[in-house]
Amino acid sequence: MDDEDALEAVRRHLDRRGELTKAGPPDTWKPAPLTLVKGRIVRSIENRAERPGSEPGDFDLSERPRYDDLDGYHLDPPRNPAEPMELRLVKRDSESSEPCSRDCDRGRTRCGECRGRKRLRCEPRTDCEACAGENSCLNCAASGGTAGAAGPDAARPARTEKRLTCVKCGERGVACRSCQGRGDVPCALCEETGFRDCPTCRGSGTVRHDDCKGTGRFTVWTAGTITRKPETGAIRRPEHSVSWHTWNKARRHGSWRTEVLSGDAGTASVADLDDEAAKGLAPDLTKKQGEVAREVTLEILRLTRVEVPLLPHRVHYAHPAPATHPSGTVYEVFAVPSGQRVLQIAVAALGALAVLTLVWWLLTP
Ligand SMILES: [Zn+2]
Ligand SMILES: [Zn+2]
Ligand SMILES: [Zn+2]
Ligand SMILES: [Zn+2]
Ligand SMILES: [Zn+2]
Repeated sequence: MDDEDALEAVRRHLDRRGELTKAGPPDTWKPAPLTLVKGRIVRSIENRAERPGSEPGDFDLSERPRYDDLDGYHLDPPRNPAEPMELRLVKRDSESSEPCSRDCDRGRTRCGECRGRKRLRCEPRTDCEACAGENSCLNCAASGGTAGAAGPDAARPARTEKRLTCVKCGERGVACRSCQGRGDVPCALCEETGFRDCPTCRGSGTVRHDDCKGTGRFTVWTAGTITRKPETGAIRRPEHSVSWHTWNKARRHGSWRTEVLSGDAGTASVADLDDEAAKGLAPDLTKKQGEVAREVTLEILRLTRVEVPLLPHRVHYAHPAPATHPSGTVYEVFAVPSGQRVLQIAVAALGALAVLTLVWWLLTP
């Protein structure tokens, strides 16, 4: 679009609005090209790192590629920079099988519960469940004996309940059938030996060593990892000199052209970018550390900014219409408030606010 087309489009625009006479002759208008570019860049950022690898048992590393020098390992750039990737490799001849720690004997280690002693201490006798240790003997309880806690005034169970001879006092028909007046019974777990098999190791003194998954060995190697992660940046140029109004209207009315750059393609191949726009984009497109691929999507709109000095409250932007006409490109115009006008409105709003505040102050008793 040359300046003539732009001025002609603005002339028609002002004519339609009946403002042509106020605008003065077109040769006093000031056209200037402006290229708006928005879009995004997706970079694939690669990182290569080496660390010791270790897995229990005979770990299968046969599927992993081998390398001699990790930085020198050739890997094609990704087709899609937005896709994350991780490749695990093995340094050549670094793989070996090593025994597990000294605490580990062929995959087994000392039991933590019994500390390798195979058995645990156990009470030889346990409370009698039938009498819960109380009233184990009606006679001993009555005379304040240790077996019973009921005391002399406690209600005695009916004599109909069959009771046995007490082993402590020798009285007949007074003792609990289970414990015969003792209040406790032999422990079923240790059969009165005072020791029982450790349940954790089932009496073996050792348990499976979890660290080596019971294998007693570790596969160790030098592990290389190549990771690629996408990093996305937004593009919007020029960054500061274009007002929000202009971006907004341009977004709605403009016929943006989309350009996708991939690989190492620079902006030189983009037809619509003039030198200034290309220079503005340069910081967005710098190559970052570790970058192995990128995809740049640009949306480009070329405008001609036309200032009409006699209409200082507005700035006009001429741009090619979205639809192509058989007769050739048609240019459209949108107008936005000029910076001067925006300031005036702001000042007017502040002034109105001041008046309101004053009125409120005067009316408030
Ligand atoms: Zn008794
Ligand atoms: Zn009992
Ligand atoms: Zn016991
Ligand atoms: Zn044990
Ligand atoms: Zn082990």
